Amino acid sequence: MSFSLHGIGVSGGIAIGYAHIASHARVEVPQYMLDHKYIPDELARFDEAILFTRAELETLRNNIPANAPAELSAFLDMHLMFLGDSMIAEEPKRLIRETQCNAEWALAQQMEALVARFEEIDDAYLRSRQEDVVQVVQRVLKSLTGHPSHLPLDIDFDIERILVAHELSPADMALFKTVHFAAFVTDLGGSTSHTAILARSMAIPSVMALHNARGLIRDHDLLIVDGRDGVVIVNPDESVLTEYRLRQNQWLIDTDKLKRLKTSKSATLDGTPIELMANIELLQDVDAVKTAGAHGIGLFRSEFLFLNRSDLPTEDEQYASYRAVTEALDGKPVTIRTLDLGADKQAPWGHTVADNPALGLRAIRLCLVEPGLFHTQLRAILRASQHGQVRMLIPMLANFIELRQTLQHIDNAKASLRKDGLKFDEGIQVGGMIEVPAAALSAAFFADHLDFLSIGTNDLIQYTLAIDRADDSVAHLYDPLHPAVLQLVQHTIRAGQKAGKPVSVCGEMAGEPLLTRLLLGLGLRTFSMQPASLLQVKQQILRSHLDELAPITQRLLKNTDPEKTITLLGRLNS
Ligand code: PEP
Ligand code: MG
Repeated sequence: MSFSLHGIGVSGGIAIGYAHIASHARVEVPQYMLDHKYIPDELARFDEAILFTRAELETLRNNIPANAPAELSAFLDMHLMFLGDSMIAEEPKRLIRETQCNAEWALAQQMEALVARFEEIDDAYLRSRQEDVVQVVQRVLKSLTGHPSHLPLDIDFDIERILVAHELSPADMALFKTVHFAAFVTDLGGSTSHTAILARSMAIPSVMALHNARGLIRDHDLLIVDGRDGVVIVNPDESVLTEYRLRQNQWLIDTDKLKRLKTSKSATLDGTPIELMANIELLQDVDAVKTAGAHGIGLFRSEFLFLNRSDLPTEDEQYASYRAVTEALDGKPVTIRTLDLGADKQAPWGHTVADNPALGLRAIRLCLVEPGLFHTQLRAILRASQHGQVRMLIPMLANFIELRQTLQHIDNAKASLRKDGLKFDEGIQVGGMIEVPAAALSAAFFADHLDFLSIGTNDLIQYTLAIDRADDSVAHLYDPLHPAVLQLVQHTIRAGQKAGKPVSVCGEMAGEPLLTRLLLGLGLRTFSMQPASLLQVKQQILRSHLDELAPITQRLLKNTDPEKTITLLGRLNS
């Protein structure tokens, strides 16, 4: 039966493929049947993976760096305990024997059963321990992936697969950067959640907030995903399929045409140069930055180096990543944001998740209570600065003491490098993210004490309007055009201009072509966005005349009537 589902389109384009229902396992799990004669080998393979994982966890626990958070040791002990439990170490073997399935699938099935049991526990703390079970299983699954099995009887790698999940975390999405899916669809999530941002960075059509897609769609159903209009069509008939194939081709032709703009100078019709920078999460995103012809990296979300692992990246490991990105950019600016963990990006060793994590120990607040962790990262960023034009960006600053303490930490890290005889750029620029209304209103202070500002509109909107950006039930209230938001953006840009300090926008507003003229009208001259949006934004810039934008922009700043907002935006973009 054919039917359609409607949600929020968070990443454009059209994909056609077969549904792959996600398990709770964060690593996608292969499923196949094994010939009877291979069962003993499969059992041995499973035992080896358990032993390997045990050795790995013990090594981590015996080598915890002195500056690691105190929770890390207790966390690793708990994981070793779970690993030794027969529910994880023995029960999957029964499934392998009885159902002739591969070890990965048996383990994932057992994990689903355990997670379901945890879900029934009343105590919130104990219930949340299901996350640990998932992480331990992930670790064993990774180890199994490194030790492949006999060839399965039945597996098809050639079809386009569309991942259907109840919810995907940013950490899941980071893993999917290396597993090809034609599209993502989820029941939960908002358009500026980090999960949606990652989908856009992969330029993969995605629809979120479908509420019950995972319940209604079955494995191997044929799906059409329209990531622009937020529509998923399940088991379409031939005429609908033909129509969407035509639309898909048109989308590909349009995207291809945009590539011609890559080398054109980025400037408005009146000749004002506009800087177009890219946002990245991982080293592998650098190729997309180059393909889009960005002027540099305006936001490197460094916290993704810390996700999907139970240990901490060492100073050398971080330095190697920051250096690789910096060298790949060949002298162009690379803005490395210090850790923004917390809220929807929780590291496994992190502090207990608060009831309101977006208002809790997040970003710079977390770094200031974990000085060892912060010091290690600051040294790594500073060391990378000798290899190019590195800038440092501090997330979620809200008050003056935080700024003073942060600058002191940076000075301390510099002093320690000098003492160790290690090189860094003495003139490295330090900027602050303006993503809390208090910081926007105090932008003049931050502009005076920092080298540049970057407006994180995703959080600025979240905190100004009190809307959780990842919660689809309030997604309709998440409004970048709210006059309060626009006034804070303009106020920040003006404070930067007055202090002679550059201001950029690195939130998702910067990558939305419908808002390009509005931001130009507010005075913005530097945009930083997902590389996939860059050429569309450039196209808008090339067609814009600054003089024509100011009057309508000023009316939008004061307007409170939503219908008029749409009309005014339409006029601005016509
Ligand atoms: C923002 O808040 O706009 C931003 C760029 O940071 P993030 O999306 O990583 O929170
Ligand atoms: Mg932010």
